[in-house]
Formats: sequence, C-alpha cells, structure tokens
Amino acid sequence: MMNFLEERIVKDGIVKEGNVLKVDSFLNHQMDIALFDKIGQEFKERFKDKKINKILTIEASGIGIAAVTAMHFGVPVVFAKKAKSINLEGEMYVAEVESFTHKTKNQVIVSKKFLNEEDRVLIIDDFLANGCALQGLIQIVQASGAVAEGIGIVIEKGFQPGGRIIRNLGYQLESLAIVDAMDPASGGIIFRR
Ligand code: 5GP
Repeated sequence: MMNFLEERIVKDGIVKEGNVLKVDSFLNHQMDIALFDKIGQEFKERFKDKKINKILTIEASGIGIAAVTAMHFGVPVVFAKKAKSINLEGEMYVAEVESFTHKTKNQVIVSKKFLNEEDRVLIIDDFLANGCALQGLIQIVQASGAVAEGIGIVIEKGFQPGGRIIRNLGYQLESLAIVDAMDPASGGIIFRR
C-alpha cells in the first residue's frame, strides 16, 4: 500500500535522466500546501517524543515545507542561506555544500544569533541524495553547540548513499518516501517498503 506522498509522486512526479526526480508541480516549484500540511503532520507524529524548539532547513526548496511543518511543532524556522564566499565574518556558522542538481559548491551560512547550545533542532529538507546538504546542516548545528534531535526528509533516493551515511552517524532520519529505483525510460518508480 502506498502512502499519500508515494501516490502523489506516482501521479505527478517525472523521472529524469541523471537520477533526478522532478516533482516541481507539487513540491519545489508550484507547492501544494494541503500536501505540505499532511507532510508536516506526519513529521510531527514521527518526532512526537522529541523536544524540538527550532526547525532548520536550507534555501530554497526546504523553506516552504519547513514553514508548514513548523506550524505543527509551534516553533520558528531558520533557513541556511547560500552565500558568496565574500565577507563572511565571525558572526556566522559556515558550511560547504555541493549542490546535487547544479553540481556547484556553495557556502551556506546561519547567523549565530539564531542557533545556539540551547537549541534542539529538527532538520528538514525536500530531497536526500548524496547527503551533502544534510551534512552541511549537521555541521552548522554542531558548530553552534545545538543538538540535532532528528532529520525529516520528504523524498529520499535510497539508491544514492546519503541515507545510509546519515543513519550510520546515528541520527533519527525519517524519510516520508524512499525511492529504491526509478527508470527514466518507462517512468517507473519503486518505493522501499
Ligand atoms: P544531496 O545534498 O543529498 O546530494 O542532495 C540534496 C539536495 O539536492 C536537495 O536539497 C534537493 O534540492 C536536491 N536534489 C537532490 N536530488 C534531487 C532530485 O532527484 N530532484 C530534485 N528536484 N531535487 C533533488
């Protein structure tokens, strides 16, 4: 049986060459906010035992999902900003992140004003592929002295190494859909059960 998100991926997702799943009609360009609300509710359920006081994500595609999820937790959202390497002073946490979709390296930054050792953070993102974006966010949380209580991902591509790497680090990583295989020729998608 497929969950609500898997059903939507099958209906509206498009499998592209290069291991890219296009979901821009509902997730990361046009956004279906009723779907985001169900995603947020599901993250709340999966992390109900954790004392989370802040959600951390990365611009741009994580922000909408994190914002709607934050309504379910009653906490603020901080998003890491992609920065040019100029003018990074001491009041920022910085991590290097390689973009899966654009193959470019970005520095991402979070102001020290918005993350510190009192924070218990839920990290949220739209996709998990190689895990580079998540590792950057984890690095920022560690640098701040905060605790990463968990990680919520909307779509994990289970045939890429990110999920295994992050789970091996000991984090509670919850992916609402895990794609184990997808075929650009037929458009077929196989989910992990
Ligand atoms: P990672 O850093 O885990 O390799 O890639 C995660 C980031 O790349 C996500 O924030 C997401 O924006 C983007 N990404 C990775 N794979 C896909 C994909 O198949 N489709 C889309 N639309 N974005 C992806």
